Amino acid sequence: MDFTSHNNMNPGSPELEVNGRRLVVLGGGESGVGAAILGKKLGMDVFLSDSGTLAPAYARELTERGIPFEQGGHTPELILNADEVVKSPGIPPTAPLIEQLVARNIPIISEIELAGRHTPAKMVCITGSNGKTTTTMLIYHILRKAGLDVGLAGNVGRSLAWQVAENDHDVYVVELSSFQLENMYRFRANVAVLLNITPDHLDRYGFEMQNYIDAKFRILQNQTPADAFIFWEDDPVITAQLKRFETEARLYPFAEHRHEDSAAWINDNGKIIFHTPVEDFEMSRDELSLKGLHNLFNSMAAGLSACLLDIRKESLREALSDFEGVEHRLEPAGTVDGVRWINDSKATNVNSCWYALEAMPDTKSTILILGGKDKGNDYSEILPLVEQKVKVIVAMGLHNEKIVDYFNGHVDAVISTDSLQEAVDTCHMMAEKGDTVLLSPCCASFDLFKSYEDRGRQFKDAVRRLADSADSTDKQ
Ligand code: ADP
Repeated sequence: MDFTSHNNMNPGSPELEVNGRRLVVLGGGESGVGAAILGKKLGMDVFLSDSGTLAPAYARELTERGIPFEQGGHTPELILNADEVVKSPGIPPTAPLIEQLVARNIPIISEIELAGRHTPAKMVCITGSNGKTTTTMLIYHILRKAGLDVGLAGNVGRSLAWQVAENDHDVYVVELSSFQLENMYRFRANVAVLLNITPDHLDRYGFEMQNYIDAKFRILQNQTPADAFIFWEDDPVITAQLKRFETEARLYPFAEHRHEDSAAWINDNGKIIFHTPVEDFEMSRDELSLKGLHNLFNSMAAGLSACLLDIRKESLREALSDFEGVEHRLEPAGTVDGVRWINDSKATNVNSCWYALEAMPDTKSTILILGGKDKGNDYSEILPLVEQKVKVIVAMGLHNEKIVDYFNGHVDAVISTDSLQEAVDTCHMMAEKGDTVLLSPCCASFDLFKSYEDRGRQFKDAVRRLADSADSTDKQ
């Protein structure tokens, strides 16, 4: 792949004349603070405003650098005089302040857009409804292991802008949510990965799936023939969209079963074939450290990205085999009395639970913990797998009625619980040696927990306590 040209910097663009321009940053989280730090470094007149409270560490970082900010509300006079605004992805476009900025034609960009304008680094960008973090971390693992000077950015770790300002790298692996993509205009991905598109966050997109699809496809804007677009070619939404959409990028589709144009697939001997102009490479599917069909796709996307970046075959094979996975994504949480416990707390929608179930044994030996804040779930997508693999469903949440009503009669039992400890105790009671208890809730966590991470950690703690008490019983 030709990476010789500077990809994101555009010397002729007016945006590079930044000195003295007023940059207002809305939102003082990781990305906002990073944008403010970058703006300051570029000599811009920076102001950060947050309607909530800044974490003390972020407030300190701003103060140390002499960057003015406010919290607990927005002062319009200090914001509406901006030349450009960086908006946190969490602020919806319908927020009144955003509408006022739009009415005044003040450009609103994302932190990634700002950062991309001020680094010559190559960008490997990952989006999709599910699998972004796993694939991002896997690509980062491969490139780091191969000795590249690589940064990790997006939803994970330090923000891109902060790194560009204070610790720039040669290559970045960037996870991009649809919210982040919304305010990107000139940013150019050298390698763009689109894993899949299934309904998610539709509340933010006026319940119009096309708006969500359009946001995801922004990952392709500005790609040139020197760039690569890697995507799952069995995704009906992606393929339909591609028919209407013109891109100059070179296409690298992947699929489980080969199509004429596939760049990665599984052959009849169970080998994954990677076929690119830069590298032809094969490895056995069994060698992949991440299991399950969804992770096959994530590994294919990561492997293709690595081939295009000219990573040595042996290094790639090793990295795909020794990647340890990401917390809360089909994460082994321990084995107690012959029962495997798996933490898939990040499965906050029905589609990701489908993939978790797909990775479970074919026998009816799974106990599935479902529940939380329902986002309008349609459980019919997982019903066939539930009927095939699940013996008991334990509903865990404050509103279990929908789950109980839906699954009653389809599994041996549906049991309603209203706390994590009760759910874990129930699973422990119901499970027999050889079974798997899977927390893959299909729902957001906010009814009982602070976040999906909090839910996953509490789950793992409860399993650890169970293991400890099983150990001490053994010893008595
Ligand atoms: P994201 O960052 O897009 O939310 P994660 O990598 O955090 O994705 O994975 C979230 C959940 O989605 C995991 O728990 C897993 O069950 C499921 N998942 C992971 N990869 C895929 C994929 N390629 N297709 C569908 N589901 C996936």
